[in-house]
Amino acid sequence: MNFALNDEQLAFKERCRRFAREVIRPAAPIHDADESVPWEVMRQARAQGMSGLALLERTAADPDGQLGLIHAEELHWGCAGIALAINGSGLAAAGVAASGTPDQIAEWVPRCLGVGDELKLGAYAVTEPQAGSDVKSLRTTARRDGDEWVLNGTKVFITNGGIADVNVVVATVDPELGHRGQASFVVPKDTPGLRMGKKESKLGIRASQTAELVLEDCRIPVEHLLGGLDKLERKLERARAGESSGRASNALATFELTRPIVGISAIGIAQAAYEWTLEHLLGEGAVADPIEGLLDESSTAGRPALERQHVQQVLADVATEIDAARLLCQRAAWMGRNGIPLAGGQGSMSKLKAGDVTMWATTRLIDLVGPAAASSPLEKWFRDAKIFQLFEGTAQVQRQVISRMQAAEYRERLAEAAASVASAERDAAREPALA
Ligand SMILES: Cc1cc2nc3c(=O)[nH]c(=O)nc-3n(C[C@H](O)[C@H](O)[C@H](O)COP(=O)(O)OP(=O)(O)OC[C@H]3O[C@@H](n4cnc5c(N)ncnc54)[C@H](O)[C@@H]3O)c2cc1C
Repeated sequence: MNFALNDEQLAFKERCRRFAREVIRPAAPIHDADESVPWEVMRQARAQGMSGLALLERTAADPDGQLGLIHAEELHWGCAGIALAINGSGLAAAGVAASGTPDQIAEWVPRCLGVGDELKLGAYAVTEPQAGSDVKSLRTTARRDGDEWVLNGTKVFITNGGIADVNVVVATVDPELGHRGQASFVVPKDTPGLRMGKKESKLGIRASQTAELVLEDCRIPVEHLLGGLDKLERKLERARAGESSGRASNALATFELTRPIVGISAIGIAQAAYEWTLEHLLGEGAVADPIEGLLDESSTAGRPALERQHVQQVLADVATEIDAARLLCQRAAWMGRNGIPLAGGQGSMSKLKAGDVTMWATTRLIDLVGPAAASSPLEKWFRDAKIFQLFEGTAQVQRQVISRMQAAEYRERLAEAAASVASAERDAAREPALA
């Protein structure tokens, strides 16, 4: 077991931190204030190898599964909204990769991200006004009409909604079958019948565009059904016959793999807030070593001993919680990369813990700084933190998933133990005869 990052990972972390400090942070206040899409930062990210297909291939190749986490944490340390603007197309690419045929993956993943310096965006559209956590209740329909599919419905809260070149839309082909009657479709930008609805004005991650997508008799070629017609027909037949498909557990397993990245993104915010608070409390250049400085009676601007101790207690708790959450993310990503099933909900645990820690830590740090925090960078980190308890599975839904997966894993362990005892008893019963 080795918890240390290797030289390549450390060098990559340094590169990502530099990009976040020199390019993302200077641009963050303006895009946060006017909720504009940070196109110039997204282009620079591409030019500097901080986004795109090549980066995706590089991070996926890391045998420890850590490069993707490092990238997400450092960019979110810069600004969570801009980081999501840079990374958000990955959701659509993941949707294509999860459901598409090899040919469809080869065609559409590059079109979600762009190749080389060309910048393209993707959006993954599932949520509807009445169907967020409850995905089986989708009402957007897909009806076959000759060589085309006709899509009708409204999607809400879609990241990159209205600006994406490729939209991966989940729609129902047979509403009576719940999630088993659903399929994913590729709807390119400018398809007649597709339009952007309301653009959301948000509390946090304001540089990331979130909007409604409206589909009105939106016609797409039959080949834009991800996975193809035969696969869909087989799935529908099995569902109508009441046979189990394993799809729900496949989807669950896929989410377990993507959640550590969402978790570590939150940790980037918490780490930024923690570092800023350390510097603020110590006063710029007060001491070479901030922790030593807190213990040093002569520093921290003449704070009385009790107050100094309180500051230490809070900072210690925040640092410990951030580290604990980061380790959960690192473990889950390592398990995913090395093919170890996340059967106990380790991916969901990492996202749940990281989202809760980040909301808690930004709140505690604001309390520590006091009223001055209201007009400090902490107020933005506090606003940006909240979304990590809401999207990609709310905190409440994560808890449900974890408790179900833990219970299932425990039942499996009990069954294995019982089988092992039974087998030992059979062996023991045979022993006299063998003798
Ligand atoms: C900024 C932003 C970006 C987003 N980007 C995308 C995107 O790109 N694509 C996309 O498809 N969606 C996206 N979403 C949607 C997001 O994933 C949903 O908002 C989320 O899944 C919650 O669904 P909901 O809003 O319908 O809330 P609901 O599911 O209605 O939940 C409301 C409340 O009830 C609780 N709740 C619901 N069910 C249960 C349960 N079974 N047990 C206990 N509590 C429960 C929830 O935890 C929550 O507190 C985005 C949302 C936001 C805010």
